Amino acid sequence: MLPATPDPAAEDDLFPLSALQHYLYCPRQCALIHVERQWAENLFTAEGHILHERSSNPGLESRGSVRVVTAIPIRSLALGVAGVADVVELRRVGGVWRPYPIEYKRGRPKAHRADEVQLCAQALCLEEMFAAKIEEGALFYGKTRRRTPVAFDGELRRLTHDTAAETRALIASGCTPAPVYAAKLCGRCSLSELCWPKRLSRRTSVSGWIARCINEP
Ligand code: SF4
Repeated sequence: MLPATPDPAAEDDLFPLSALQHYLYCPRQCALIHVERQWAENLFTAEGHILHERSSNPGLESRGSVRVVTAIPIRSLALGVAGVADVVELRRVGGVWRPYPIEYKRGRPKAHRADEVQLCAQALCLEEMFAAKIEEGALFYGKTRRRTPVAFDGELRRLTHDTAAETRALIASGCTPAPVYAAKLCGRCSLSELCWPKRLSRRTSVSGWIARCINEP
């Protein structure tokens, strides 16, 4: 079980960076995946795999003055997370190579900030590893086929740190929260058949259950 706060010296205590996005999407989904080790695929996760295919092999290539690194292992002892960055461009600024993370996502820009938090967590990992300040990165969405720039401002950094702390606490608790049914989220969730969100979020009182049994013919 993870300790409540990350031990800066303990690489073994790191949890997957992807858990942050799962947590912001739905804490129960995060616990099902990272506490109970459950997983299921659906159309949306399959589309995500296809989009990541190009960047899933470790590599390094030069594109003009920019070096492009793919599938780079990253970690942050401050956040307590480890993962893999899809694409990191290295741009030479003032004689120093500056990392610029780019994350591939299916669909289009979302109303929630889960994608931005995942990208910011990657930037915080790279800042620790390169001892460099990273001001910006980008999300590349499969539907729009465009990069959306993301500024790593104070608010996004705070949200990322807070999300990491809450996610760590959830995983350390070893408990899976009860479902809260939300048609839009649950309808797209690959774990819905394992979760039973509609049935389990219905509150049934014991007295009501007894009354129904007594009244049954
Ligand atoms: S089905 Fe809904 S409640 Fe269950 S894990 Fe997925 S998003 Fe969360």
